[in-house]
Amino acid sequence: MSKMTSNDYMAREGKYGAHNYHPLPVVLEKGEGIFLWGVDGKRYYDFLSAYSAVNQGHCHPKIVKALCDQAQTLTLTSRAFYNNVLGEYEEFITKYFGYDKVLPMNTGAEADETALKLCRKWAYTKKGIKENQAKIIVCEDNFHGRTITIVSMSTDPDSFGGFGPFTPGFVKIPYNDLAALERELQDPNVAGFLVEPIQGEAGVFVPAEGYLKKAYDLCKKHNVLFIADEVQTGIARTGKMLACDHEGVHPDILILGKAVSGGILPVSAVLANDEIMLCIKPGEHGSTFGGNPVACRVAIAALNVIKDEKLEENAERMGKIFRQEMSSIKSDMIELVRGKGLLNAIVIRNKPGKTAWDVCLAMAEKGVLAKPTHGNIIRFAPPLVINEAQLMDAIKCIKEAFKLFE
Ligand code: PLP
Repeated sequence: MSKMTSNDYMAREGKYGAHNYHPLPVVLEKGEGIFLWGVDGKRYYDFLSAYSAVNQGHCHPKIVKALCDQAQTLTLTSRAFYNNVLGEYEEFITKYFGYDKVLPMNTGAEADETALKLCRKWAYTKKGIKENQAKIIVCEDNFHGRTITIVSMSTDPDSFGGFGPFTPGFVKIPYNDLAALERELQDPNVAGFLVEPIQGEAGVFVPAEGYLKKAYDLCKKHNVLFIADEVQTGIARTGKMLACDHEGVHPDILILGKAVSGGILPVSAVLANDEIMLCIKPGEHGSTFGGNPVACRVAIAALNVIKDEKLEENAERMGKIFRQEMSSIKSDMIELVRGKGLLNAIVIRNKPGKTAWDVCLAMAEKGVLAKPTHGNIIRFAPPLVINEAQLMDAIKCIKEAFKLFE
């Protein structure tokens, strides 16, 4: 059989796979550190990091070793029994983030669902809200995943359109709007406020300085749980271990996913103190794969890499250079550069034949992979292991791509 071309691979996915994504026309077969290689042998700088799941770089040898060692020993027992790894991981991750307890899940969406359930249980068993009356405040333009309940919280028609009826119990307020939050907090049936410290999928929208701290303080004043979805912003992506750390906020419920495993397999986690976490009793929540021994070993290794390789500091330093360099590009296509650490975005002034999608195609041609979001925003989020020379080389490619549109 003759060798398959990129077009062959894309056609096969198009024929046999659901059309729920619109990928850039690049077919990848290998990853190492900050690089990806296509089936045609072309090398790319990865500036998406699988939506910030691969913060530690592709196929990090220490994480891969943890995966392989455990996979040859014990992969899954379910939670019907104890195993010798789960407790070690639970102790490790709770001490790492400063909480009493963790509830392990797999995907980010599952962790968000878990946090919502936990918040509702707390509302009924601790806060004294009447059964079925609890409300959770969420923000417009949020992204927390794709389940029915999560799209019930969404204000993006692509996410919720055609998927009703929806789960009740959510109040939507504008992001970065403390007055709106304070207004809604007057309702005694409000149990929680769920927020992304930076809205990633919305296009890396960074709230005003002080927003998170003030929002947290307002929640405390009204006995409402402050729930941070750090699935995309966590694990050193924004230059601190958690984006909430920039404002010294310790969420009541912390939701993690993606880079908890360094992109090796789906591992997510919900962290809280006993007062909240022990509201859920045996049989009330769970997951067959959640907290499996392979996931636990991988997560320990992935979180150790973040500290061992000082990836918070690197993300902070490289991010500053990136935004400075991008802001210096003279192009009438660039409306705005924004971000924190290595979670950044450029807002593009779209014109016919000159859209964010066209820029991404040109960047891919030059050897940098990134993906547009919402039609006119390009997110730039390389693995946090990128060094200055590599960053400057990738920036050169990005600048060359923008030059093509002058
Ligand atoms: N929460 C946030 C903030 C996210 O950015 C995402 C994914 O992009 C999710 C939740 C959902 O994670 P998953 O795709 O693993 O379900």
